[in-house]
Amino acid sequence: MRVKTPSHRISAASRRSVRKVLDFIRRHDNFLVSGHVRSDGDALGSQLAFHHLLKKLGKKSHVVCDRGVLPDYAFLPGCESVGGDPSDLHPPYQAVFTFDSGAWSRLERIAAALDRKALKVVNVDHHASNERFGDLNWIDPSFSSTGEMVWELVKAAGVKPDRAITLNIYTAVVTDTGRFAFSNTTPETFLNAAELAGHGARPSELTKLLYRQRTVDQLRFLAAVIGRIERTENGRVAWVTVPRDLERTLGMTAGDTQEYIDLLMQLKETELAMLFREMDDPPRIKVSWRTTPGIDGIALARKHGGGGHPRASGASITGTMEEVTKRVVEEAVNLLRSGRRLSAKEEAAIARM
Ligand code: AMP
Repeated sequence: MRVKTPSHRISAASRRSVRKVLDFIRRHDNFLVSGHVRSDGDALGSQLAFHHLLKKLGKKSHVVCDRGVLPDYAFLPGCESVGGDPSDLHPPYQAVFTFDSGAWSRLERIAAALDRKALKVVNVDHHASNERFGDLNWIDPSFSSTGEMVWELVKAAGVKPDRAITLNIYTAVVTDTGRFAFSNTTPETFLNAAELAGHGARPSELTKLLYRQRTVDQLRFLAAVIGRIERTENGRVAWVTVPRDLERTLGMTAGDTQEYIDLLMQLKETELAMLFREMDDPPRIKVSWRTTPGIDGIALARKHGGGGHPRASGASITGTMEEVTKRVVEEAVNLLRSGRRLSAKEEAAIARM
């Protein structure tokens, strides 16, 4: 028996934003499309799907995000033309679209190379902590991924979605919801996934492309990371450090850090997990937080100029691995010790911010 699919819901404010964004596109011709540095599946999938949408609308579009395409996403349609360095920019652009980026500075060297004041910026994002840095801001944390916001644009623009669009958006949804497992997964997520599958996205193909292309060295790297897990005595706080030395010793760079921090959340006792990754250009420690309900990851990240979602947040901190780890673990332990918890109402309010 087939179940009747519930109708798709999107807020009146987002409906208005979709109209404004499409109107903006109609009035311009030459776009730069970007996302946060080391774009993850959601940021890159959104940029590429939007790029294909612009092409279908007869517009000029150029995708450049700092550090370009991570090897894990090299299969995404369109990624061969993505720039990863400020020297790849070909100004003048009439307007810049940013996806999945909570702050203009998250574009890192691309933001630094552009004259923000001379450009119109459209900011499309699902992060509650977004700084609304655009001339036009469409921020809606009720979407589980930014890719689904692009999907709304595709549908409203009336273009026929092709494989290049659906595969990119489906990747955004799957990666940002942890394969439909994180707390951001809603009935709407499944409806969007169903629509994408109806337009040609194939879940088994994507599973193969995203999660079944490992080299044995990558698995060995994962084993080394597992060997470095640290915890407080009661196990409520768990963390792992990935220093550059480890990458040098094992002769490879760390892959998608999401996977490493997920390992910590698999431990029964974990309430707050952190990943510390040493970056060298510029030197700093990239910290990722993952929390269980009631613990505000945004507050922990904001102390260090970062942001994200209550359940998943991040920041870049200057200092040595030792200093940063000590300080940030202490903050996490103190937060749990204080017993400060977000109520369900506060959680919902943060998500709507
Ligand atoms: P990550 O730690 O990279 O897995 O990121 C977790 C979440 O926090 C994602 O939604 C990121 O976009 C966000 N995030 C990570 N780093 C930063 C930062 N420096 N500033 C603001 N948001 C961030």
